[in-house]
Amino acid sequence: MRIDLIDVSYAYHPGTPLEKLAVRGINLSIEEGETLLILGKTGSGKSTLLQIIASLLEPQDGIVLYDGVHKRGYEVRRKIGFAFQMPEDQFFAENVFEEVAFALRNFFPGRDPKPFVKKALDLVGLDLERIGNRSPFTLSGGEGRRVALASVLVHDPEVLILDEPLVMLDKKGKEMVLKALKRWKSFGRTLIIATHDLDWLLPIADRIVLMENGKISLNEDVRSFLMQDLKSFTTSKSKVYAELLRRNIDPFEMSYDDLVKYVCWGEDFEAR
Ligand code: ADP
Repeated sequence: MRIDLIDVSYAYHPGTPLEKLAVRGINLSIEEGETLLILGKTGSGKSTLLQIIASLLEPQDGIVLYDGVHKRGYEVRRKIGFAFQMPEDQFFAENVFEEVAFALRNFFPGRDPKPFVKKALDLVGLDLERIGNRSPFTLSGGEGRRVALASVLVHDPEVLILDEPLVMLDKKGKEMVLKALKRWKSFGRTLIIATHDLDWLLPIADRIVLMENGKISLNEDVRSFLMQDLKSFTTSKSKVYAELLRRNIDPFEMSYDDLVKYVCWGEDFEAR
């Protein structure tokens, strides 16, 4: 599903003394199958933008088109999987099966949820037989986040939208979630992520959007983004990626081990 935002603006508490213009005049197109990372400081409008794309907030100005058509609400939400920050904080069911089955029952009442739950758990690298009866409240950080992801994937959406999917996870948890996101991407599905974890998510990014004060200040293919000298968004890994691109080596095709070798040996990398 292609998504186009045209001149979209959203204010919280409009027409009151608390009015806050959170996103302003956004023009953005997201192609089917693309992985888009939305970067920006806290308060720059990333979460608001995600919720507009997911049709959870309706902009006061502008329109959002899905495959060229202006749709809203339920019709859109059925095609989108959306996870807020720390989605596992919303766990409520007595076991993992029921937790993941919830959205399916909601969107497709009357269907047997089991094959769908199994498929969604498979996608995030979890086994229904092993984990289905566990209480979601006893899971590790990485397991909990993946169960939460499975619960937004269970109705087989076309687009996955995630707000800070790696926040508050340890290294192992981040690796597990990244692996699940790579799988999702490998199916040619669309992925839209607001994040501060550029280094972790760089390997799966196709395009980077930078939000500043409610506006898009940069919208670039990931390779052109890396080649720019953006002081506030250079991280150790992005510097390594940029250096490799300058040397005509494609970092996106490199294994993690080769990247580490490059970081350790720099100039001599190719000789090793
Ligand atoms: P980010 O995700 O980049 O941190 P947000 O979209 O959450 O940014 O916030 C954008 C702006 O909107 C901020 O100034 C924030 O304080 C404000 N904002 C966010 N949510 C609300 C809300 N529910 N009520 C009022 N203002 C809000």
